[in-house]
Amino acid sequence: LVYSDSNPLKRVLHADATLDSDGQPIRKKKVVVLGSGWSGYSFLNYLNNPNYDVQVVSPRNFFLFTPLLPSVTNGTVEARSIVEPIRGLMRKKGFEYKEAECVKIDPSNKKLHCRSKEGSSLKGTTEFDMDYDILVIAVGAKPNTFNTPGVEEHAYFLKEAEDALNIRHSVIDCFERASLPNLTEEERKKILHFVVVGGGPTGVEFSAELHDFLVQDVAKIYPKVQEFTRITLLEAGDHILNMFDKRITAFAEEKFQRDGIDLKTGSMVVGVTADEISTKERETGKIVSEPYGMVVWSTGIGSRPVIRDFMQQIGQGQRRVLATDEWLRVEGCEDVYALGDTATINQRRVMEDIAAIFSKADKGNTGTLNKKDFNGVVKDICQRYPQVELYLKKNKLKNIAHLLKSANGEDTQVNIENFKQALSEVDSQMKNLPATAQVASQQGKYLAKCFNKMEKCERKPEGPLRFRGEGRHRFQPFRYRHFGSFAPLGGEQTAAELPGDWVSIGHSSQWLWYSVYASKLVSWRTRMLVISDWTRRFVFGRDSSS
Ligand code: FAD
Ligand code: MG
Ligand code: MG
Ligand code: MG
Ligand code: MG
Repeated sequence: LVYSDSNPLKRVLHADATLDSDGQPIRKKKVVVLGSGWSGYSFLNYLNNPNYDVQVVSPRNFFLFTPLLPSVTNGTVEARSIVEPIRGLMRKKGFEYKEAECVKIDPSNKKLHCRSKEGSSLKGTTEFDMDYDILVIAVGAKPNTFNTPGVEEHAYFLKEAEDALNIRHSVIDCFERASLPNLTEEERKKILHFVVVGGGPTGVEFSAELHDFLVQDVAKIYPKVQEFTRITLLEAGDHILNMFDKRITAFAEEKFQRDGIDLKTGSMVVGVTADEISTKERETGKIVSEPYGMVVWSTGIGSRPVIRDFMQQIGQGQRRVLATDEWLRVEGCEDVYALGDTATINQRRVMEDIAAIFSKADKGNTGTLNKKDFNGVVKDICQRYPQVELYLKKNKLKNIAHLLKSANGEDTQVNIENFKQALSEVDSQMKNLPATAQVASQQGKYLAKCFNKMEKCERKPEGPLRFRGEGRHRFQPFRYRHFGSFAPLGGEQTAAELPGDWVSIGHSSQWLWYSVYASKLVSWRTRMLVISDWTRRFVFGRDSSS
């Protein structure tokens, strides 16, 4: 088969024995993991292979449970409740942790250049170099400003725990400032104009949380200025939540309208100054500027500078996002893996491999495939090329045999031309996986499991298609399982889109969301803290001190 490079980890494995040829213990392989977010933490959590010396480098010494981050901005949940310190896991697993940022990856010398964070009490930074045998990149992504002038300086992002706290303080400061004497009505209106840029799940959820806060709490605490408040949500496209089902988008847009959130679609932000935000209306091309009190920027993610630089070095400079193969190996680079938001999987096309698939299935070398030949490879094809399954589902076909039948009448004897024709449309179903916690954590778990069974796999080398009679201990390519998406919309309502075209909106999905996230929180400690925050909020309302 063409995949002769198919054992991704074999070379690494060879040096992995604990004794060398003279019976002397050899140095353990050094695995360096960059990042302690969804993908990195999940990888570390599931990694159980004593043959590795594991070192973690991340500028934050905790895991952050991002789905609840928008709830921190208005005090529904405390920031401390949604972080999980990483030291506990490190001690339990015997891994080593360094609180620093990797600023340069040097793949040709297998070296990393790292720098400590500048703390509030510590002046200056410490720099150091590290080497690695295997590198796992899980550094996530950074907010994308699309180089819009003024955004870095004047807007708030919502990505890290500090961001959520900064937003919370700033919202409350706006209310305190607007409550001071000697301000004109215009000035109060400006200070209390909250602008959210980006109609994706985060921007929508933040707007909803802010609205809840204004309605449920501000009305009581700042009754005099409440009438001056306004929330504007700006979206460049035609609709908000455009990755969701149309029913959810429509529901959310209607709800926002009822709530009095000023939703402006087709408006692209072209600049932000200290006092004004300017948008270009797509239809008219007109530029409109409006005064604001606070801007929250949430328009998607881009690659971190250290990753951009790395991509240049390995010949991926033209790409938008770092590419890996289906085993999460970085393309064009040895012994480097990348997971989560940092990378996308460059899914292999069926058409590229069609001749090889055919000849592998055609056991007797007859030039045609019969039903039996075919059954022997169907499962492997579906495993190796997820787009096949998507295509069958979309066309309501039970399996590949049906696809061939529909392409070739009732005759199940197919030659290479029929085979090609039947599968010709399949690659059109290829889609990049979304940048979500669900994908990141599944990738972390997947890679850890591969690393855990390295030694077994070495004895029974892997092939990308699992053919009958071959060993079992092989690495299957990464497969994503979608458990559904949630979009909290405020007012205790959540929209849920679950597998099987099931859409549910309302209070029941709010509780579904609570329970899904409560059960996914990493530790009992975190779970307890979040549940007690929720309870406290129900009973006493939110804390409004900044
Ligand atoms: P991250 O989780 O971002 O982790 C990156 C890690 O790398 C961090 O520890 C960081 O400190 C570290 N790091 C950064 N730079 C360096 C460096 N140079 N060297 C070393 N370490 C570095 N997804 C869902 O599925 N459901 C949701 O409800 C949901 N809600 C979200 C809400 C918000 C507000 C946000 C911001 C995201 C949300 N997401 C959600 C998306 C989800 O958080 C991301 O997809 C996920 O965090 C990606 O995981 P990751 O491991 O790639 O990156
Ligand atoms: Mg991570
Ligand atoms: Mg995270
Ligand atoms: Mg990220
Ligand atoms: Mg990704």
